[in-house]
Amino acid sequence: MRDILPPESGRWRRFVGVFVDVVEAAGYGELATPLIEDLGVFVRIGDATDVVTKEMYDFVDKGDRHVALRPEVTASVGRAYAEHRPVPPWKVFYAGPNFRYEKPQRGRFRQFDQVGIEVLGVDDPYLDVEVIALGWEFYRRLGLREVRLIVNSLGEPDDRARYVEALREHFEAAGDALSAQSRETLTKNPLRVLDSKRPDDQQFIEAAPDIADYWSDDARTHFDVVLVGLDRLGIPYEIEPKLVRGLDYYRRTIFEYQGATLDSAQNALGGGGRYDGLVEALGGPPTPGIGFALGVDRTLIACDDEGVFPVEPVQIDVFVVDVTGGLEAVELTDELRAAGFVADRGYDNRSMKAQMKLANRSGARTAVIVGDDELVSGTVVVKALDGGEQHPVPRTDLINHLRREATP
Ligand code: AMP
Repeated sequence: MRDILPPESGRWRRFVGVFVDVVEAAGYGELATPLIEDLGVFVRIGDATDVVTKEMYDFVDKGDRHVALRPEVTASVGRAYAEHRPVPPWKVFYAGPNFRYEKPQRGRFRQFDQVGIEVLGVDDPYLDVEVIALGWEFYRRLGLREVRLIVNSLGEPDDRARYVEALREHFEAAGDALSAQSRETLTKNPLRVLDSKRPDDQQFIEAAPDIADYWSDDARTHFDVVLVGLDRLGIPYEIEPKLVRGLDYYRRTIFEYQGATLDSAQNALGGGGRYDGLVEALGGPPTPGIGFALGVDRTLIACDDEGVFPVEPVQIDVFVVDVTGGLEAVELTDELRAAGFVADRGYDNRSMKAQMKLANRSGARTAVIVGDDELVSGTVVVKALDGGEQHPVPRTDLINHLRREATP
């Protein structure tokens, strides 16, 4: 877990701001769910996923409730839908931290932020297109160019069940040649063996059956319509027959956005898909859902790697230097801020030289200086910190003067 310091933290806020602009423009409203929920909510993600079995920060609270820090948000959205029964379609977005007890490394942390959207109550394949396109548009707005979109369909639940059986047979035939971890995964969820990055497993993964051969007509049609929609929007995608995703409830369309610059184990910037049954499992009516979650940390690493969406420290407009004790600066910074200028100042009644050094270091364009003479004459000295020219300005005219200077 890390601290995010300024000015990096400002970039995080702008990142969320760009995301909010994109999704609010498509009719999504923010849903804020608690960071802690009943453990049962998250167990619904699927008891064959590492997120649930190994990585959960769960504990018994003082009221003897078994609770957990949320490892993701989709389950909470399903729980909120079941609880509040909003009129579908329910289009929501979220932004905030999640917690997973993973091995920390570049792009993998124990507390990490995600932004995401979920839509509940709509089966339309063109919604899949909207959801995928919004993630794509968000990356475009950040300036990222090297993002790969990969898509697949897990078919209908029956297709998926037949496929899982075929995978089980295929991987069991590999016997001990399969890595020990994958052999264990195989007993719980053969689909997840396809996620293995271990070299031993690669030849068996490549030779594994493709889900496409198990799609029902309905699943195939749904997926075809999604692809037609993506084509219409000119969004480039690759069909990845071996793409599977963690949640047990995923069916039909699934997708992932991959960064070109990250290691393959951490290259998923974000991903999502269609799911069924989640709301029902949480006590609501049968409800189709689709959404995605995008990792903030990893996406910012991708931005650094591509040299886009840079950190931008807040630009200080005016730095007030007061060598008469500091009270004048109290009033001047207050007036300047009220007039809409970003204003900072020197403290501790330090020397002119020391305060001017701070003014220069602050990046401000202008210094406003008050010394004893100015105090007597009711003026301040306005000094351009880039060029260096300076002149006295009546104190009562300071704001207007700075405004005139700011508008070329
Ligand atoms: P998931 O919920 O596992 O599908 O993850 C969605 C996205 O969240 C991933 O593509 C990552 O960008 C991000 N993510 C997941 N786990 C972590 C983690 N431990 N540290 C940083 N980012 C993560």
